[in-house]
Amino acid sequence: MRLALLGPPGAGKGTQARRICQTFNLVHLSSGDILRTEKMAGTAHGRRIRDFIDRGMLVPDSLMLGIMQNRICALQQGFVLDGFPRTLPQAKELSRLLKHIKRPLDLVINLDVPMDVLSRRFEGRRVCPICRDVYHIDSNPPVKPGICNNEGSRLIIREDDMPEVVRTRLSTYKKLTAPLIEFYATTEADRLVTINSAGQPDEVTKLVFAAIEKRRASQISHNGKPETAA
Ligand SMILES: [Zn+2]
Repeated sequence: MRLALLGPPGAGKGTQARRICQTFNLVHLSSGDILRTEKMAGTAHGRRIRDFIDRGMLVPDSLMLGIMQNRICALQQGFVLDGFPRTLPQAKELSRLLKHIKRPLDLVINLDVPMDVLSRRFEGRRVCPICRDVYHIDSNPPVKPGICNNEGSRLIIREDDMPEVVRTRLSTYKKLTAPLIEFYATTEADRLVTINSAGQPDEVTKLVFAAIEKRRASQISHNGKPETAA
């Protein structure tokens, strides 16, 4: 099974991707994690990534594609893409690559969350600077307000979650990533599923798993066996 998760920042792509991978035994390809790993490893890609990130710029499509292509082609088993593709050129090039290696996406899941719900999620988010645990003042509060449950550190608001930064991230998403949904709706309409992700993570997971099971069942009924046995 090969999946891509789409959706704005704060839609819960990372959480859902981890749960899908655990349950369906797939590899989590998180673009954020992969970029961090490449950067730390000091590979040729990594040095170029550092240049862009240090200047506060987005990693360009060609570099992102090169990195993801390496990862995808090295995999024998199924995967979940999280944070990639992020732009229309990335999505088009990814489709071309997967077609070429005869391993197309089985499912594109669009996690849909209204913008006002997203803003609230970001506003309430607090992280522990020591253990990196993430809390939310409404939906996942620490036992003692403002204090990490694990080692008692004072929780902070991440730079990324500051209202101004959030506005920029959401408008970047609208401009660059929202057109992807249109792209998949026209090219892979039967593989695109939109899931309302405004609810609690567990509710969303139920809907996501149901969509995967349904897709799997339809593949089995079409082919007599799953396409993704390898
Ligand atoms: Zn902590």
